Amino acid sequence: MIRENLNHIHFEIRQAEKKYGRPPGSVRLIAVSKTKPMALIREAYAAGQLDFGENRVQELVDKHPQLPEVRWHMIGHLQRNKVKFIAPFIHLIHSVDSARLLEEIGRQAILHERIIPCLLQINISNEEQKGGFSEAECREVLENMDQYPGVLIRGLMGMAEFTDDEKVIQAQFRRLRLAFDGFQTLNGPAVQMEEISMGMSGDFEIAIAEGSTLVRVGSSIFGDRG
Ligand SMILES: *Cc1c(COP(=O)(O)O)cnc(C)c1O
Repeated sequence: MIRENLNHIHFEIRQAEKKYGRPPGSVRLIAVSKTKPMALIREAYAAGQLDFGENRVQELVDKHPQLPEVRWHMIGHLQRNKVKFIAPFIHLIHSVDSARLLEEIGRQAILHERIIPCLLQINISNEEQKGGFSEAECREVLENMDQYPGVLIRGLMGMAEFTDDEKVIQAQFRRLRLAFDGFQTLNGPAVQMEEISMGMSGDFEIAIAEGSTLVRVGSSIFGDRG
């Protein structure tokens, strides 16, 4: 069942890459396994899925040792006092939404003698509860990366509004893409603007059309979370 779902999503991703003129293989699938048991995660891993996304530190801490080969992604709001628990192993933090959080991630990275790859989350939806930087705040961070040793900025992340209006979703994804393009001039030792994390089960095709490189898909792989 999980294998069939993964095959189906990969097919849809490939179709969208073709349809929108994206190079084949330019979009990577992150299987969002939050709330799902290890048995289902192992099933997906056995089917070849390597990247998994979680939105809670406790779940990452519980699941990571059971499948350390997996590339674990943090996609949910991260509290500064919990960074230390995921710092040793996290593959990519998508949800960096403040300068103080980035500072703490860098501090923990250095303690654990590694560089932690991060995406800066931009609030593209204008919904206050979604969180994230404004474009101006994001630029401010990118221009002052000497203040954040230990982190490597790999790109941006955003979430579109929860709506059926595809035009609204497309405009919000386009906004993230334009910010990403505008930040290319800031690339340097601590900034490699290469990834755009946008698109979920309901909207990843629109996200691919607008330039997504990482889609975060949960329910279409693992079923509804109830
Ligand atoms: C839960 C979640 C997803 C996956 O959502 P689905 O609709 O189940 O695909 C993607 N991104 C974030 C940040 C999430 O919290």
